[in-house]
Amino acid sequence: MSKIRHILGISGGKDSAALAIYMREKYPNLDIDYYMSDTESELEETNNLIEKLEGYLGKKIKKIKAADTSEHTTVFDHFLKLYRSFLPSSQARWCTKKLKLEPFETEIGSRPTISYVGIRGDEQREGYVSVKSNIQTIFPFRRNIWSLDVINKVLHNNNINKIKNYYEKYVTGKKLIEILEIVETPLSKHFFYSKKMNTLLDFGVALFNKVVFDFLKTTDSPIGKLDKFPLIDNEDLLVRNDIFNILKDSGVGVPAYYKKIEYEINGKKGTYSRTRSGCYFCFYQQKIEWIWLYEQHPNLFKKAMKYEKDGYTWMDNESLTDIIKPKRIEKIKENHIKKTERKLQKIKSPFLIDNLIEEGEENLCVNCFI
Ligand code: SF4
Repeated sequence: MSKIRHILGISGGKDSAALAIYMREKYPNLDIDYYMSDTESELEETNNLIEKLEGYLGKKIKKIKAADTSEHTTVFDHFLKLYRSFLPSSQARWCTKKLKLEPFETEIGSRPTISYVGIRGDEQREGYVSVKSNIQTIFPFRRNIWSLDVINKVLHNNNINKIKNYYEKYVTGKKLIEILEIVETPLSKHFFYSKKMNTLLDFGVALFNKVVFDFLKTTDSPIGKLDKFPLIDNEDLLVRNDIFNILKDSGVGVPAYYKKIEYEINGKKGTYSRTRSGCYFCFYQQKIEWIWLYEQHPNLFKKAMKYEKDGYTWMDNESLTDIIKPKRIEKIKENHIKKTERKLQKIKSPFLIDNLIEEGEENLCVNCFI
């Protein structure tokens, strides 16, 4: 077991921080290495969260830097120069690749590694799964802890007999007959992977995990090299509220940039905050978040403005110079109030925490925003 490395990447967001706390509490015997990709462009609030988390974990979170830098430049600046001032965007996201994914894979090298990722049970997105076969990704917050590549192999029609044999080891009687009926049904247009997987999970999550573990033992997967894997018995499913509760109960707290700050425009009141971790200039920000940055961190906003030159802007249709014109700020705030009101009308729950909906969250890069 000691040959396998366990790692957990901290993005500076709430979900990965909560996962680190959860793993420490629930699996204290797993020797997990924590790391963070240091872009040197994070918000101060993120750095504070990392410090508090280190205190809670009693362990350093290793900062991986994609390049050596001096005090006059940052890792992001280093790569921006190589990309000839071409700012990254959602269509050309070189920043994630260069600043986060490549250094992460270099750090791991060729050692068999299990990487824990904090995608929640209420999210539809898949986490980043390395193409390197020595890295196996596990999602402890989801009902299905396995990554898609593993599920595809386990449920592949060629493996039906193997899977049948594993189930026969653990189940008997009527339940076995019912399970085998599902296992023996080949995948097709009408019976696809997720349907088959969810039906098998309905018969027992831990049971499904045991079968997957047995299967992985016949492969080169890092988990298959373990004698025991404690997450096999994990039947938890954690959603957004659970994440906030973990952070609060541990004393680490919710990242400070989530704190709603009140603003007033033309007699109407609204609140804004930053809803995601990552670089202060991240192009995934909503317009209201740019205004938050302008008003709450004016120096960082000015720095972000300096990157806009030679026709390159952070947003497709608007420059940072334009977005802070008083009339434009007014419009963005008014629109934000209207949008929030519409959203709140749809939300039935009386708990404020449920209202912290992050827009477009499912489209975001998990390396930056979990
Ligand atoms: S936070 Fe945004 S800008 Fe920073 S690396 Fe991630 S996608 Fe790129």
